[in-house]
Amino acid sequence: MRTTVILDELRIGQIKPDPAYDLYFRLLRLDLATLLTDPDATLVGRSCPGCGAADVPVSFDKEGLLFHDCPFCHTVFVSPVPAQAALDILIKSGRSARYRREMFAHKLAAQRVEHVHQSLIQWMLKTCDEHDVDAAIYCDVGSDDEAWIHAVEREAQFREKTFVSPLDLSRRNSNARYTTSLADAAGPFSVISCVSALDKVSDPLSLLEAMVQRLRPGGLLFFTTSSSSGLEYKLLGRDAPSFCALDRLTMFSVEALQDLLQKLGLDVVELSTPGRLDVEAIAAYLREHPAAKSIPFWGYLFERNDEKTLAELQLFLQRNLFSAYARVAARNPA
Ligand SMILES: [Zn+2]
Repeated sequence: MRTTVILDELRIGQIKPDPAYDLYFRLLRLDLATLLTDPDATLVGRSCPGCGAADVPVSFDKEGLLFHDCPFCHTVFVSPVPAQAALDILIKSGRSARYRREMFAHKLAAQRVEHVHQSLIQWMLKTCDEHDVDAAIYCDVGSDDEAWIHAVEREAQFREKTFVSPLDLSRRNSNARYTTSLADAAGPFSVISCVSALDKVSDPLSLLEAMVQRLRPGGLLFFTTSSSSGLEYKLLGRDAPSFCALDRLTMFSVEALQDLLQKLGLDVVELSTPGRLDVEAIAAYLREHPAAKSIPFWGYLFERNDEKTLAELQLFLQRNLFSAYARVAARNPA
């Protein structure tokens, strides 16, 4: 199994300009408050989505949701969790989702295409090459980011494209297929991708199973998600700057991801945490919360503010799967 390390220098401001994300997080909290006070919105109790353990005790609450930190597989998850129907409404018409789409489509489009989208597409195509997989029959699942969808639409190696999006994209000017439900996607597919959606759905295990069922023998599943193994979450817990409850309904640990994919019958060909923002996020938090500097060792380390040490720390996190952003490639055995 491969573990990729991203060596180039990338500052936090290049991907997450603080003011834009601050407003997004505020709107996300408002949307969640609206959902929790809606008498028609259902909340569903669940076992640990990582290992199936029942009755995992509550570890903390955040923004009105109860989070559990599984002592067996270290997955962090919300239970009871908002039903998918309520989450779908927020993705279509919630203020935060509309603002995020606007932000990604205009303000941040150029830098995201360069730093995020192209790098993900190149990673998928390179992995297909390495495993001798023809990427022709392609399906993307769960994205409402039109800049991402547009980037994939232009990729010629994905010759037949299907997009399963919570948004109705049927009016798009392209010969791809668009559907709002994975059940309506034809398949089987040689490549399926799922970018930053598993942590935001109410039942990520069922979504994973449904994608695996639609994968050709020999085909590749690619996904990205947040990981509870990340230092930012381990150190700062519920106060971690990128921990916004509605966007982090399930955070699998790397060990839970590995076990789940094996149980689903897949060969994991890559499990990496190439996140580049953990150290910057912790440093920013400690700057804004001087009282937290009393965290033994870590407060001291960050107070020294030695750029070389901090860069080496981020590399250590990537190499040892302790960054909070995970990417996975897994193959359906031929
Ligand atoms: Zn568990």
